Amino acid sequence: MRAIAKLTPGPGLQLTEVPVPTPGINDVLIKVKRTSICGTDVHIYNWDSWAAKTIKPPMVIGHEFVGVIEEVGANVQGFRRGDLVDGEGHIVCGVCRNCLAGRRHLCKDTKGVGVNRDGAFAEYLCIPASNAVLVDPAIPLDVLSCFDPLGNATHTALQFDLVGEDVLITGAGPIGCMAAAIARQAGARKVVVTDVNPDRLALAKRMGATRTADVSKETLAEVQKSIGMKEGFDVGLEMSGNPRALNDMIDNMAHGGRIALLGIMPAAAAVDWNKVVFNMLTIQGIYGREMYETWYKMTALIQSGLDISPVITHRLPFTEFQEGFDLMRSGKSGKIVLSWE
Ligand code: NAD
Ligand code: ZN
Repeated sequence: MRAIAKLTPGPGLQLTEVPVPTPGINDVLIKVKRTSICGTDVHIYNWDSWAAKTIKPPMVIGHEFVGVIEEVGANVQGFRRGDLVDGEGHIVCGVCRNCLAGRRHLCKDTKGVGVNRDGAFAEYLCIPASNAVLVDPAIPLDVLSCFDPLGNATHTALQFDLVGEDVLITGAGPIGCMAAAIARQAGARKVVVTDVNPDRLALAKRMGATRTADVSKETLAEVQKSIGMKEGFDVGLEMSGNPRALNDMIDNMAHGGRIALLGIMPAAAAVDWNKVVFNMLTIQGIYGREMYETWYKMTALIQSGLDISPVITHRLPFTEFQEGFDLMRSGKSGKIVLSWE
């Protein structure tokens, strides 16, 4: 089968020929229909320091996908050939305290599809059946291929009650833009999205932000004033991975404000902890999605009208993956969906 892989250490990716994986007794083999490119895939493409220490080539990459079940292992129940499925990209150990308690998103030993084992940028993908998720075939395939990052956005945005709250989202990447749409749908009052990239801010506006702000041109204090806010934001969703954005957020929260941190900082980021103390802020780190409550919630949000399709800016056949990665690296795209059909 054809697959997009990192064959040797160093920058770049290659379209290559690898054997179709053989499912074990607890696995499902999935014929991939669509995949979408994640920032993580771009880190792997670029071969930055994180990728160099984490990725063990040769390896097929990718973890955002939708496909149909082709084959089920002998022990597998609940899936049949032809079922349309997404996949949870975090494979958990199943035996640690959190896993045994059903808190699988808190597993101490998570392994990533397309990060620690062969991934989804291929004609076929093999994963444990416990990681496959039946999806609503009424939802467009392109949207279903983005459920993994939509899950990050949903899990982060729904961390705290948003009804009537004023929300600050730092970072208008695909995840920040999806979070803006979710926050609106979940009943937030003001949803302010910041970035330093005008294309991305325009996307956030299309996705329902009530106000966008280019923080290289105006401060959040000025933004608050311009929209009649006096006491700061109630909820903050950090989705840029930029330490400056986190500090801006901390400076602009209401007393007792709640912050969910999804963005991955490049290195240890300094914070004035006294602001957290005296402003009595709650900070919650977020990794991945809840298995499978987030999958349930995001499906229900879409079934009740959430539209994330504007975040998909490009659609390409998988053979043109290089163009997709070039676009992602330029910062001029939202989600890029590759078709494997
Ligand atoms: P992205 O890189 O596409 O978007 C980040 C955005 O932040 C960019 O548009 C960038 O211009 C903007 N930005 C840069 N500096 C800024 C500043 N000072 N203020 C405001 N915005 C600024 O990323 P994405 O795919 O949307 O993901 C969002 C973040 O979440 C990334 O840091 C990613 O690594 C992280 N992530 C975390 C998890 C997790 O499980 N914790 C999962 C997926 C992604
Ligand atoms: Zn575990």
